[in-house]
Amino acid sequence: MGVKGSLAWSLKIPKVSKPLFQATYRELMNYLIQTSSNVDEINQKLKEIGFKVGEYLLMDYADRIRKHAVAFHQFASTLQLAYKVNSGQEFTSIWISDDRRVVKFTDVKCPICEGVEIKDLPGLQYCNLVSGVFQAVLTLRGFNGDSYQESCRAVGDDACTWTIKLLE
Ligand SMILES: [Zn+2]
Repeated sequence: MGVKGSLAWSLKIPKVSKPLFQATYRELMNYLIQTSSNVDEINQKLKEIGFKVGEYLLMDYADRIRKHAVAFHQFASTLQLAYKVNSGQEFTSIWISDDRRVVKFTDVKCPICEGVEIKDLPGLQYCNLVSGVFQAVLTLRGFNGDSYQESCRAVGDDACTWTIKLLE
């Protein structure tokens, strides 16, 4: 078995049904909408939940990821791998700024937003949970960075885009 094969094997994780995940996520969102006073609060709570999810994922897989990001822009490949392992698909595109301090991840087929269309909550970041997961990875790996969502299919954008930015 080559290096690639052994890496794939070590990151093999049990899968959960996509409809089950999407239905659970939808109900989480309904609950947040009902218990929050505005869209910013919903977005913030989603990111906090995502951070916790990211902590769990990182605890589980940290020892099995052999090549951790050392330089900030290397999160492009680390997070691509994490996204692929957990969602079963890759980002449509990844953009890295010339100074390597900003990385944008885009998915035109975001599995969280699939089939979701929300028109009455402008500014909602439906899949901001992903930003929280990214934030956990950055923070727990010791980087002073910020993670946020720039566009979201669920509210009418063409794609979902999550950005990470090095702050110092
Ligand atoms: Zn999305």
